[in-house]
Formats: sequence, structure tokens, C-alpha cells
Amino acid sequence: MEFLWSPWRQQYVTSGQAQKISGCVFCHFSHPSTPEFDAEHYILHRGQHNFVILNLYPYTTAHLMVVPYAHIAELSHVDKSVSDEMMDLAKLGQKAIGQVYQPDGYNLGMNLGSAAGAGVASHLHLHLLPRWNGDANFMTTVGETRVLPESLADTYQKLNQHFAF
Ligand SMILES: [Zn+2]
Repeated sequence: MEFLWSPWRQQYVTSGQAQKISGCVFCHFSHPSTPEFDAEHYILHRGQHNFVILNLYPYTTAHLMVVPYAHIAELSHVDKSVSDEMMDLAKLGQKAIGQVYQPDGYNLGMNLGSAAGAGVASHLHLHLLPRWNGDANFMTTVGETRVLPESLADTYQKLNQHFAF
């Protein structure tokens, strides 16, 4: 379980370029932006209070996260409108993943606080990832990096159309 939801790292690689983000990585993606920015950073959808983004260090293919725009750590401090939309977007995500990947199951949850395994403990986020029978066996690990059967760009392309509305 310890690396089920791998922590985000401050430095990540996208489009062959290493980028360093100062401050909260989720706040970095929260700000209104262009469709090009969203595509480059695998942001699948922007709702009224939350956005949906692929985890750059997925445990399984199509591991996504629903993230409030607001920098809030405590679930109990979040407005009902925000948490309601988080769950609505998780439902939408499950539907999208189901149509594209037909998994055997899903994990849906939050790691609240670094003691619980949160990589970005100061900014709430909800994980959703598909599971397949025996997936822990067929995916090999190299260090901390799991080897996935498809690229993030492919996953993004497959899921994106299901979030276009
Ligand atoms: Zn933040």
C-alpha cells in the first residue's frame, strides 16, 4: 500500500523538458489557462470548483485526480459545493475510465496528511484509479517508477473526449 498513490514530485518531466514548480503544484495548475496548457499538463476537465488531472506518476493506467482550485488541506473545511462537485467528477471519471478501459475495479480515496501518505498534504485531492485482477503482479517496478502499458499522452487522448461537455 505504501506506494499505491505515489506522491507528486516537485520536479517532473513533460514534453522532454524538466520543469521545476515553486510552491504548491496543484495551485500551479489551478489558475485559469489555455486549452494548450491543459493538454500539455494532462488536465482533462475544469469544473466550477475542481479540475481533473492525470496523475503523472500513476499506479495504474488512467490514474486521475480530482483537485479543488482552492488551496485547502482539510476535507472538513471544504464547502459542500466543492466536495459535492468532487464526487460528481469522480463519478464522471469512473464512467469515462469504465468505457475506455473496462477495469475489474477501482480505488477511490484521499490521503489526508503526510502521515497518511499524501504527497501534497497541504492541498486536498481525490484519487481515482482503475484496477485489474492481478494488476499488482503484471506491472513491474523499477525503483519507484512503475512501468505502464501506455503513455500518459495516449491515456489523455482516450479519456479527454469523455470529459468534453
Ligand atoms: Zn495548493
